[in-house]
Amino acid sequence: MTIFEKIARREIPASIVYEEEDFFAFKDNNPQAPVHVLIVPKRVIAGISGSQPGDAELLGRMLVATPKIARQLGVFESGYRLVINHGEAAGESVPHLHIHLLGGRALAWPPG
Ligand code: 5GP
Repeated sequence: MTIFEKIARREIPASIVYEEEDFFAFKDNNPQAPVHVLIVPKRVIAGISGSQPGDAELLGRMLVATPKIARQLGVFESGYRLVINHGEAAGESVPHLHIHLLGGRALAWPPG
């Protein structure tokens, strides 16, 4: 079981900020910005590279929810960034698909 599945099952505590039936969002425990949450399907999708055509509707709804989550966290007006890391060079560390939502400060481009 991945750490994010355990969070989804409330076996590991996390600060959950948004929830739907099959995905949820919680605060990253090593935040890289004043607002840093992870939007995660409750069932395991093994990263963006492990996503299948049958996951498209769920992934679409996760993306569509991001402006709502950003508004709720107070970063919609100032701006925010969505990130999905794949592979070692990008720093992917948890093999369970997650979208980072970062905001609350100016975010450099290109990213580091
Ligand atoms: P990745 O590097 O795979 O793109 O992102 C994984 C993220 O999960 C990291 O930003 C890391 O801080 C976060 N993370 C890892 N373990 C936990 C945990 O147990 N709780 C929370 N809230 N975040 C976690």
